[in-house]
Amino acid sequence: MKNFEKFLAKYKNTSQPIKIEKIIKDLWITINYVKSNKIDWMCVQIEWKWHILCKWNVCEARRRFTLAHELKHYLEKENAYAIQWQMRKKMEREANYFAWKLLVPWMALSNMWNEMKDIQKVAKIFKVSPQVVRLRLTDLWINF
Ligand SMILES: [Zn+2]
Repeated sequence: MKNFEKFLAKYKNTSQPIKIEKIIKDLWITINYVKSNKIDWMCVQIEWKWHILCKWNVCEARRRFTLAHELKHYLEKENAYAIQWQMRKKMEREANYFAWKLLVPWMALSNMWNEMKDIQKVAKIFKVSPQVVRLRLTDLWINF
């Protein structure tokens, strides 16, 4: 099983919202909140230590999503700068997909959806954007 699949399996039954910051810190990755608009989100290795650079002025849902996305790059030790554009596009798609799955596990979502049928409320519980809930519902063939 791939690294990221193991990871998803490990966290699929944890309570919501998933503690993405703690998960990252437990892997000894430092989260650096950067106040510059010139710096984009990224996951970098500086000497032996991994860092996720993170914009400080974004909403919580956006921050959580991007942290999960960068975590995927870390798990696969992907170096976004070393590879070609086509490959990078694929990596970015996969990292997004990983983030959606990690933050919104399907079992938890389908249970909650049956109870609530309300995208805004469900998004609040998972601490993700309503857009992410919509994507996951579509993904799981759940009508909304
Ligand atoms: Zn990325």
